[in-house]
Amino acid sequence: MGIGRAIGPRRAAVFLDRDGVLNRALVRDGRPHPPQTVAELELEPDALEALELLKQAGFVLLVASNQPDVARGTVRREVVDAIDAKLAEQLPIDDFLICFHDDGDGCDCRKPGAGLLFRGADRYGLDLKASFVIGDRWRDIAAGRAGGAATVFVDRGYDEPNPDPPADATVGSTLQAARWIVAHSPAPKIPALANLRVKIFADGADKAAIVALAANPLIRGFTTNPTLMNEAGIKDYERFARDLLAAITAYPVSLEVFADDNDEMLRQARKIATWGENVYVKIPVTNTKRETTAPVIRALTAAGTKVNVTAVMTPDQVRGACQALAGGAPACISVFAGRIADTGRDPIPIMAAALDILAPHPGIELIWASPREPLNIFHADSIGTHIITVTADLLAKLPLIGKDLDEYSLETVKMFARDAAKAGFAL
Ligand SMILES: [Mg+2]
Repeated sequence: MGIGRAIGPRRAAVFLDRDGVLNRALVRDGRPHPPQTVAELELEPDALEALELLKQAGFVLLVASNQPDVARGTVRREVVDAIDAKLAEQLPIDDFLICFHDDGDGCDCRKPGAGLLFRGADRYGLDLKASFVIGDRWRDIAAGRAGGAATVFVDRGYDEPNPDPPADATVGSTLQAARWIVAHSPAPKIPALANLRVKIFADGADKAAIVALAANPLIRGFTTNPTLMNEAGIKDYERFARDLLAAITAYPVSLEVFADDNDEMLRQARKIATWGENVYVKIPVTNTKRETTAPVIRALTAAGTKVNVTAVMTPDQVRGACQALAGGAPACISVFAGRIADTGRDPIPIMAAALDILAPHPGIELIWASPREPLNIFHADSIGTHIITVTADLLAKLPLIGKDLDEYSLETVKMFARDAAKAGFAL
């Protein structure tokens, strides 16, 4: 697993049969046939409008088509490919999934099998249960059902059996099918915070706020650092920490050393670790002289102290920290994704690389530190990050998650109106 992991919820597709849905099927003796040449290709007149509607609704558009004439030797594969290329020029199609086999070939892709749907789902990270199939023959509808998708049958009145059981909807044209799908697809859902795998830790140094957050089921741990403690006006480190640990016993709490040489760091860390079972001692990845703290980390973890290696920004640092922690007590590595983003770099590939490095070490968890916006919680979750630390200003925004945008827009307009009135502006 690496950079290619999809971000956000899995997507939905519309699987479109080709002949009789996108282009006219050539009907002989009441039965539909594909065009035999590019010259015979004629689009269904409403196909473009239908596909644009589906595209706008956010669907991945995949053609899923049986072309058994290739196996039967009556059409060359190049002709099928050329027809597909012509369709791709005129319609917003994302990809073609074609079965070139016939019934006797024992393939797993020929409809009514669902192999083409599974192939599309693999390739595009699709949720088939949120996807749709449009087809003009029973095989299309049966394939959709076998793949778990909802189905729409475009009834062209061929002289052949209709889908049995019937499709979820039966319509008279490709555009009607698209309209039915748009009307029956749920609005894209924002996953509820409580359903995310990533654990949210609160980052702060305000004891009253921390105690209040401990009652919030969304918060599963706490971190702090000397900068936050200084901002909170804390002068007596030990008193603050012990006070906090008396109040928070059920969740991990990270407390950072502040010494700059390795021996003193080790002494502080050992002392801090005695203050509670739930303490993770935060050790910066280097000291201020850029010297590695790996020997300190190694000594602590080997003796059973839980360590949180902090201020990490590069995969090389993750690798070094991981080596020092391997085989020791449970531990975390805090990669400062937000600070990485501040430099103009996308933190997601770096976080994904960090997860790959940690994969063989289930006792070491990755922390997405210094998030910049609530969206980062979903970023962190989507790649499988174990923990994200969230400061009070971002926690205050969590009630906005999933908020209706029209509603939010109106509130924003009202805010402008209110503030203009307050300022007493006149022109
Ligand atoms: Mg067809």
